[in-house]
Amino acid sequence: MTADTSRCDVLVVGSGGAGMSAAITAREAGASVIVITKSALGASNTGRAQGGIQAAVGPDDTTEDHFEDTFAAGHDDANPALARALVEGGPAAIAWLERVGVGFTREGDRPRVIRCGGARRPRLLQAGERTGAEMVQALRRAVRESGAGVRESTSLVGLQPIDAGWIATVEHRDGTRSEITAGAVVLAAGGGLAGEAARIGESSTNHPDATPEVLEMALALGAEGRDLDSWQRHPTGAVWPPGLGGYALPETTRSYGATLHDAAGQRFVDELAPRDVVADAIIEIVAAGRGAAAPDGSMGAWLDTTAIDRLQGPGFTAERLAYVHNRYLKQGVDITTERVLVYPVLHYRNGGLVIDGHGRTTLDRLYAAGEITGGIHGTNRLMGNSLLDTVVFGRIAGAAAAREAMA
Ligand SMILES: Cc1cc2nc3c(=O)[nH]c(=O)nc-3n(C[C@H](O)[C@H](O)[C@H](O)COP(=O)(O)OP(=O)(O)OC[C@H]3O[C@@H](n4cnc5c(N)ncnc54)[C@H](O)[C@@H]3O)c2cc1C
Repeated sequence: MTADTSRCDVLVVGSGGAGMSAAITAREAGASVIVITKSALGASNTGRAQGGIQAAVGPDDTTEDHFEDTFAAGHDDANPALARALVEGGPAAIAWLERVGVGFTREGDRPRVIRCGGARRPRLLQAGERTGAEMVQALRRAVRESGAGVRESTSLVGLQPIDAGWIATVEHRDGTRSEITAGAVVLAAGGGLAGEAARIGESSTNHPDATPEVLEMALALGAEGRDLDSWQRHPTGAVWPPGLGGYALPETTRSYGATLHDAAGQRFVDELAPRDVVADAIIEIVAAGRGAAAPDGSMGAWLDTTAIDRLQGPGFTAERLAYVHNRYLKQGVDITTERVLVYPVLHYRNGGLVIDGHGRTTLDRLYAAGEITGGIHGTNRLMGNSLLDTVVFGRIAGAAAAREAMA
C-alpha cells in the first residue's frame, strides 16, 4: 500500500454508461470526482451495445406506453417507481446525450425510431448501428472535459465505511495498492456476467471486464440485493461458425424482418415478443428435438436473415446492419444469402443492488447505477432499456451523491 491517499467528494467505480453519466453529472453539480476503472476509460459492456436505446420520443408514443411495456416484460416484478422514473427520464436522457455529442440517426427533423421486441410502438433510437460505441465515445470525451480525475487500470478491491464517507482500496495495473477517501461512492461496475459465465463454463456476450466482485463486495458489506439470480439470455447468440462464439446478432435483425425457424422450416414464436419469451421458445424447440445442427453437432434454430433484404429492399442489410454483416462475412458467411444458426447466450443480470429513487443503496453514502442495480426492469429487461437506465440513473445517482458529499 502506498502512503499516498487521494480525496474527493464523489468516487465513481466503473466507466460504462452509468459511471460516466454519474461522473459528468456530479462534476456539473460542482463536486470533485475521481473515476476508477478496471482497464481503459469506457472499456465496458456499454461500448458493445449495437441495438439501440429506448425512449418515448416517437410521434405516437407516450411514457405511459413505455412504462406498461417495461413493467409487463419484467413480469410485474419491477419496482414501479423506478420503472416509471426510467421511462419518464427517457426523453430528457436522449436530449442530454445529444448535448454531450451522441449523434442519433435522424429521419427528417426527429430521431428515427424502430420497433423492438416487447414494445408496442417504434421506440428504439440508434446512433448508426453501434449505439453503445457512439455513446462511449461522446461520454469519454465529456468525462475528460469535465475535470474529473480518471484512474485507468485501477480496480476497486476494498471498501470501508468511515464517518461521512468511505475509504476505497484500489489496485493498480502493477499490483500496488492505494486508498481513496470519498464523501460518497457511486458503484457502476456492471452486472458481472462474464465472470459468472466463466464460473459455470458458459460463454457470454459480455466484455471481459464484466466481473461481479464489486457487486459481491457491496453485498458482503450488508447492502441489500434483489433478483440476483435472474439472468437474461440474449435470444440470438451465434452458434456457427465457431469464430463467432459469444457474439449475439442484434435484435434489430428481427425488427427488420428476420424470422426464426425450426429444422423443418416451421416458425415457432412471435419474433417481436419480449426477449425471454423468444429465448425460451428456442431452448424449448431444441429440447424437443426440433432444433437444427451445426457441422460440429451444436444445436440451435435458424434465423432467416435473408428475409431482411427481401422485405426492406436490396442493400438494406449491408447498410443498416453493416457490423453484423461484416462480422459474418469475415467468417465466410453472407447473411443476405444464407440463414444463420442461433441459440440463446448469457447476456444480462436483471437483478442487483436495491436502490431508491435517488440511486441510494441501503448503505449510507453508497449509491449505485446501471446493470449493478436491481428493481428497474424486474426479472426480464426489454432491449434498449439498459442503455437508457445507465443514463437516467447514472445522472440521478451522480447528482444525489454530489449533493450529499458536499452538504
Ligand atoms: C454485446 C452486448 C450488446 C448489448 N446491446 C444493448 C443494446 O443494444 N441496448 C441496451 O439497452 N443494452 C444493451 N446491452 C446491455 C447494456 O449494454 C449494459 O447492460 C449496460 O451498458 C451496462 O452499463 P453499466 O455502465 O452498468 O456497466 P458496464 O458498461 O458493464 O461498465 C462497467 C464498468 O465497470 C468497470 N469495473 C468492473 N469491475 C471493476 C472494479 N473492480 N474496479 C473498477 N472498475 C470496475 C468495468 O471496467 C467497466 O468500465 C448490451 C450488452 C452487451 C454485452
